[in-house]
Amino acid sequence: MSIIKTILKIVGASLLGLIISLSILFYYAKGEETKGYAFNLAVESQKGPILAGFSKQSIVPKQLKNMWMAGFGNNREATGVHDPLWARAIVIQRGDIKIALVVLDAIGLFYDDVVDIRTTLQTDLDIDYVMVSSTHCHESPDLIGIWGPESGRTGVDDNYLAYVKSQSVAAIKQAHSRLEKVKIEHYQDDESAKPLLEDTRNPLITDHSLKGLVFYSKNTDSVVGSLISWANHPEVLWSENTLISSDFVHYVREGVENGVEVKGKRIPGLGGISVYINGAVGGLMTTSPSWEVKSLKTGEMLTGATFERAEAVGDTLAYIYLKKVMNSHGSIIENERLAIAVKTIYLPLKNINFRLGMIARVIKRGLSGWSRKVKSEVAYIELGPLSIVTVPGEIYPEIVNGGVEAPTGQDYDITPVEVPALRKLMGGKHKYVFGITNDFIGYIVPKSQWDVKEPYTYKQTGAPYGEVNSLGPDTAPIVYQALKSLIIK
Ligand SMILES: [Zn+2]
Repeated sequence: MSIIKTILKIVGASLLGLIISLSILFYYAKGEETKGYAFNLAVESQKGPILAGFSKQSIVPKQLKNMWMAGFGNNREATGVHDPLWARAIVIQRGDIKIALVVLDAIGLFYDDVVDIRTTLQTDLDIDYVMVSSTHCHESPDLIGIWGPESGRTGVDDNYLAYVKSQSVAAIKQAHSRLEKVKIEHYQDDESAKPLLEDTRNPLITDHSLKGLVFYSKNTDSVVGSLISWANHPEVLWSENTLISSDFVHYVREGVENGVEVKGKRIPGLGGISVYINGAVGGLMTTSPSWEVKSLKTGEMLTGATFERAEAVGDTLAYIYLKKVMNSHGSIIENERLAIAVKTIYLPLKNINFRLGMIARVIKRGLSGWSRKVKSEVAYIELGPLSIVTVPGEIYPEIVNGGVEAPTGQDYDITPVEVPALRKLMGGKHKYVFGITNDFIGYIVPKSQWDVKEPYTYKQTGAPYGEVNSLGPDTAPIVYQALKSLIIK
């Protein structure tokens, strides 16, 4: 009897081994291929006035059952809606070139889904380059897959994902239909927003400068829309909240559009449609519940994962921005050159959990070629004195602002690779970083700071947080080199 049992065990084990091997082989041979063609776009327009149009479309889910909220653990089902989620779009035209940007109140969106949005638009509008960005809001439905009811079950509701894509298309179409001649002004405050965020990983380098563009109609002089850019995780409401919200981003946009209250005094807003875009949020920029934030309304110091504190962060950012617009002269952009350069990149997928998640279809995205790399994209845009890099994930601020280190305890014995800082290379006077744009590839960790093995960097007793949500140690060098090649022509 025991011999039969042993034989059965061996057969069973080898059968299991065979099934696993075949599945892996099948995955490599037949796995889904990333959508879209390889981009190597470089176009520019020297003449013509600048036109712009704005739009916003709701992306609030129509029902909340099985709507799993992204950003923290599993099994956080939405129970209500605190404030609306949006797809907010800007289309800019200069001469014969048009670009579109749609920003979603979402944790992120994969490249394949961005390609779907572009494909739907392509037939209708002649837009040269469409960018899809996410605010990285941690209080909105999962569009990635890893925050489902339990690990191993996807958190993405396919109907909701389709709705987000169709509303993105609708927002861009409407913004396009509203194109009109504009004057753009750039404003920037490099210091005031610093106390609102903390850096939770060495080296302590943030990207706290607040930047923004105000678009004035040439016909009416009124504000048609604005863009505000800052780098932080929208996660003030943290991990227990089950009410859908865009977190502090909601209050930023409300404040910029409709004004803020400062100790009983009303500061007027700009009107128009405000678009918030995130920047270099890696490494890791947060306003965790223990971090004290001063209420703009009362002057009280606030802690905790409350809407009141999310409002304090958003109001303060809006106030800093409005003060700049009211009290200073912005840098004017009227009849300037628009240039776009885009590059497709291929990133090795070393993260075993991500790979297993894809095999199990918890994470639904294609991979590329026989080496099954992650196909993604970077871009560089210049509009007169403005320059913009788009980054497909959460880039560490030291890569964009400088200060990449090679600390003792690093896993690779190398000097900093991602140098000089991207902002040193970028052209123009006003340098924007659009994070989590056109993809969601996780953390972009400087290779010389990569640290999963003992001894750990900065004399820490455990591995720092970041690598677990990164594709691998070569992500940052590849993203950096690709951007560098677009900037330096
Ligand atoms: Zn993040």
